[in-house]
Amino acid sequence: MESEENLSFARSDEPESEVLYIVGTPIGNLNDISKRSANILSKVSFIACEDTRHTKRMLSALKINNRLISFHKHNAKSKTEFIISKLKEGESVGLVSDAGMPLISDPGEYLVKKARCNNLEVICSPGPCAALTGLVSSGLVSNNFLFIGFISRKKNEREKCLRTIAKNINTTIVYESPKRLKSFLKELEDFCDDDRVIHIAKELTKKHEQHWQDTLKNINQLMSLKEPKGEYTIIIEGKKTKERNEQEIYEGLKMDLKNLIELGLKRSSAASFLANKSGLSKNIIYNLEY
Ligand code: SAM
Repeated sequence: MESEENLSFARSDEPESEVLYIVGTPIGNLNDISKRSANILSKVSFIACEDTRHTKRMLSALKINNRLISFHKHNAKSKTEFIISKLKEGESVGLVSDAGMPLISDPGEYLVKKARCNNLEVICSPGPCAALTGLVSSGLVSNNFLFIGFISRKKNEREKCLRTIAKNINTTIVYESPKRLKSFLKELEDFCDDDRVIHIAKELTKKHEQHWQDTLKNINQLMSLKEPKGEYTIIIEGKKTKERNEQEIYEGLKMDLKNLIELGLKRSSAASFLANKSGLSKNIIYNLEY
């Protein structure tokens, strides 16, 4: 429930003249469109979209009827001139991609840059993004991350990128097509340690949403048995630092200590057992707080 204060701070949902609206659309679940985005899409002068047939289907499911023009990576430059001229004439324009947030591995960067150079207002009505949806579902570190999107297929750039992922101590997010998912994971094995945790998020927000999380080695074994179909976002754990390794060891010991005590062992016996197993001091383990 929104507070009155929140409502009074909200920008109007009504499209304004000379404004370019970047509108986020669902990545699989139509109900993820916001009321604000739907209102903007129904009232802007026209909508620039990647594939007019695809966007038309989405709009008709939302009972929205508006003019569409095609705007994709191959015509983005020429269409930008047209859109800027229409904005200058006082029109309002909505930009959508086939799914998710425009500009995120999708066209729009050049248009936004040009709109800003021309002192036109650019406003985003946000929506879902596969990268963030996958990241927050993974449980991997989410306060620092690197978004790569699709990795270049050119050999040198690709290798450079794989090296960057291997060295990155923060989480990395990658988009990959089902056709290349298995080969990408195999390639990753040549650059990263086998125990790097990989999270694969398939068909986010859709009926057949699925998640797998395991070490790189195990994920590769698992994937070798599958024929990937659908859309995939890959979340890669950051390279383990000495501190993170130690922290993980202590977290594990705390859990073991708790479990052994709950099973009836005295703290001292549980600590002796874990000290023998881990090679760490009994005293330190005895004093761990769980
Ligand atoms: N702009 C979009 C966004 O905000 O997420 C991304 C567009 S990019 C062209 C498409 C890629 O995003 C797919 O190949 C896949 O890697 C990822 N993706 C899109 N939808 C997805 C979904 N529902 N589940 C998992 N990954 C998805």
